[in-house]
Amino acid sequence: MLQGVLMGIFLMILNLSRSFIAGELTCLCDKQGSKCRENSTCSGVLCFVSKHRAAGEIIHRIGCLEKEYETCRGSILENFGMKCCSSNMCNLNLTIQLEGEGQMGLSLKNLLLMILVPLFTIVLLAVLVGLVLWKMSQSQPRKMQFGCDELGDMDFILKSSVIGDSTLEDLMDDDCTTGSGSGLPFLVQRTVARQITLAECVGKGRYGEVWRGIWHGENVAVKIFSSRDEQSWFRETEIYNTVLLRHDNILGFIASDMTSRNSSTQLWLITHYHEHGSLYDYLQCTMLDVETCLRLASSIICGLLHLHVEIFGTQGKPAIAHRDLKSRNILVKNNKQCCIADLGLAVMHSQSSDFLDIGNNPRVGTKRYMAPEVLDEQIRMDCFESFKRTDIWAYGLVLWEIARRTVVNGIVEDYKPPFFDMVPIDPSFEEMKKVVCVDQQRPTIPNRLYSDQTLSALAKIMKECWFQSPPARLTALRIKKTLKKLSSSFDKPKQNA
Ligand code: ADP
Ligand code: MG
Repeated sequence: MLQGVLMGIFLMILNLSRSFIAGELTCLCDKQGSKCRENSTCSGVLCFVSKHRAAGEIIHRIGCLEKEYETCRGSILENFGMKCCSSNMCNLNLTIQLEGEGQMGLSLKNLLLMILVPLFTIVLLAVLVGLVLWKMSQSQPRKMQFGCDELGDMDFILKSSVIGDSTLEDLMDDDCTTGSGSGLPFLVQRTVARQITLAECVGKGRYGEVWRGIWHGENVAVKIFSSRDEQSWFRETEIYNTVLLRHDNILGFIASDMTSRNSSTQLWLITHYHEHGSLYDYLQCTMLDVETCLRLASSIICGLLHLHVEIFGTQGKPAIAHRDLKSRNILVKNNKQCCIADLGLAVMHSQSSDFLDIGNNPRVGTKRYMAPEVLDEQIRMDCFESFKRTDIWAYGLVLWEIARRTVVNGIVEDYKPPFFDMVPIDPSFEEMKKVVCVDQQRPTIPNRLYSDQTLSALAKIMKECWFQSPPARLTALRIKKTLKKLSSSFDKPKQNA
């Protein structure tokens, strides 16, 4: 063993001395070199280390050179590098680094970071947005809300999915409505409103215009409120959307919409369209027979009674008083029944919660139709019954307008508004007060009415609607019952026939 080691040392010294004598160097070499001796040394003019990148792998070589090559002096390249030195075993400590070598791991890490970080951020954002949308869809109230203009353009989604080729009847079907209020879900209301084409202006009221509009080929009425009557729009929208008001004799509500155009607010109320227009319009040029007169009168009281009564239960409604009942706010349908319109001034009352909701509309009713207690300002504003009684007063006046246009024995009067012969065209509050409260005058009932049993019964009802003392007046229920009895005399012959 010792002998072997001594032999090795001897050989090394021998090689070194041989190289020294021949001008050659002893270098470290790898076994791949053909001149590499058993003890990993070789002899040459120069020692070298080299690195060569091939197919992503780095091949590391060390050994001797017989002569100096160009590459010995060349710079280190991306795929090949070489260093040479000229002392014994000098390549032992010679190192080489190719371009990009060692940074490879770093750049891969960078690359991964560059891909993974944005990818992770996107996934996280998508999950968050998804969660928010899901939450919104869960909590989206099916009930109308106000001032939701900021809901943006989600209605375009609804346009295609909810409305499609629906007719108004499809949309208003109970399954489709909100379940609370008489309206469609809020976004559908907006969508319907924005798909309407205005065709012609059919009326100008005190506070706005009414247009015939077309939605999917069907006529609708569009009431465009002037900005000074925005409280009426708010009130009417509020009532239609919180109270279930579907009744043959209440104007059918379709939608309400608020848009902002050129910094001004446009308020629309969309309802069923009735081509005969208001009762006021209708009576101008239509004479009635007794049956039609009764039909109109009965339908109005049915509508008014529906407003006045509180209905309990899930499909219930509070009691409502109209406060602006008049022939202009009653529409005539094709079947000669009427429906009551314009709830902009209405008040609501719930007995169970004893809550009286007067709203905050600064508008007052129409002076010509004001009851004495309104004119002399004695009305008890804290008592809901008071408002119902003023409606009954106005109903009596409407009945009077209808009765005058009913032919009895070939005689009929021209259309005239109540108190036409006692006050000027646009009477002041004081003028009305003088006639109604001070002089206690009432519209003149034409004598000819007493020659007809039905019309004389109507004359009696009118008078009982006009008592100075509000509690003495008839109630809507009482009037409805009386008119029903009168109508049955018309129904009977038909049943026999
Ligand atoms: P006012 O302020 O005098 O009560 P409105 O603004 O309520 O008047 O209505 C003006 C007119 O428009 C009515 O007198 C009637 O001729 C017409 N009108 C209102 N609503 C409808 C409707 N739903 N269908 C057809 N015509 C209507
Ligand atoms: Mg009106």
